[in-house]
Amino acid sequence: MHVHRLPVAYPNVPTGSVNAYLLVGDSTVLVDPPERHDDIDDLVADHGLDCVLATHHHPDHAGGVARYAREYDATVACRAGREEQFADATGVRPDRTYREGSTVAGVRVLDTPGHAPEHVAFSTPSGLLAGDLAIDEGSVAVATPEGDMRAYCSSLRRVWARAPARIYPGHGPVIEEPRATCERLLAHRRTRERRILAVVTDGAYTLDAVTDGAYDKDISAVRELAVATVEAHVEKLAVEGRIRWDGERVRPV
Ligand SMILES: [Zn+2]
Repeated sequence: MHVHRLPVAYPNVPTGSVNAYLLVGDSTVLVDPPERHDDIDDLVADHGLDCVLATHHHPDHAGGVARYAREYDATVACRAGREEQFADATGVRPDRTYREGSTVAGVRVLDTPGHAPEHVAFSTPSGLLAGDLAIDEGSVAVATPEGDMRAYCSSLRRVWARAPARIYPGHGPVIEEPRATCERLLAHRRTRERRILAVVTDGAYTLDAVTDGAYDKDISAVRELAVATVEAHVEKLAVEGRIRWDGERVRPV
């Protein structure tokens, strides 16, 4: 199975582009088309199209699903139990569903929730198509209400344990050292978590105050996202019994 990476310019995301992928083997599978694009059209014209998949429902990954599914009469699949949300997000009803361990058009599904609840990765012999689980530089968004930091960290550990040959991410270059990247992303979360615990121990109890203490850099341009990220950390720490959180106030244990 050959993996074609197709970066598509997409101004509304930090990297400025999204990677769609065309997998060419016994079947041809398009993964994460953000919209119609000439490069995708050209490749699909050469190879045909059997199936369209999305790692999760965000528009930069699923915005082009309906167009390619209809134009090429391709099969569309989504996570079992998420059919309605998928149809709302893409405008097309899935022909079939998958679960952890399912094989769809020759690719195996791996559950990787965290960035989004329905997030999955697609495993191929040459590497793992991992959507917004991992990125070569910086980090991905894991923020309330739909982000789940505990799930995200365990998804990273699962991928670390599987040690795929490479990771094909939703944004940015191919990740040639998956384990090192998973370790870096986990370390980044642990560092932020330690900061949050320290700030809470020092008496900060609103999300705003905790956020102010948890970041050194100027976050005014992305404050809403930073607060929602801190909330995702706080929810994780509360479930683990390391702080108390009643939805409004954070307290030390
Ligand atoms: Zn996303």
